[in-house]
Amino acid sequence: MVSVEAEMHELAIAESLVEAVQARTGQRTVRSIQMQVGRLSGVVPDALVFAFELAAQGTPLEGAQLLIDEPAGRVHCRTCQVDQDKDDLILLCECGSADVEVTAGRELALLSVGVV
Ligand SMILES: [Zn+2]
Repeated sequence: MVSVEAEMHELAIAESLVEAVQARTGQRTVRSIQMQVGRLSGVVPDALVFAFELAAQGTPLEGAQLLIDEPAGRVHCRTCQVDQDKDDLILLCECGSADVEVTAGRELALLSVGVV
């Protein structure tokens, strides 16, 4: 279940993505796009795929496959100096401290584009 708010967020990202790719590929037909969406990026991959299909309509990106790689989240606690894996956005250390730094999982990047 994806909230409307989340879809709006993903739609804005999908629109920027379509623009960014098209700025590089012009009128060439795009077959696939590979992206990195970290688990702590706040972006829901399924919602992004759905939003991308909408945003790509009527562009050379229409029908392109969006492949999403999801790097795991990792945080470092400044209070107890421990590193731990984190797959949700509740950024609290097991020790109870909120003084944590995200060291991985916030990626939101375009890795490659496959054109015809
Ligand atoms: Zn801690």
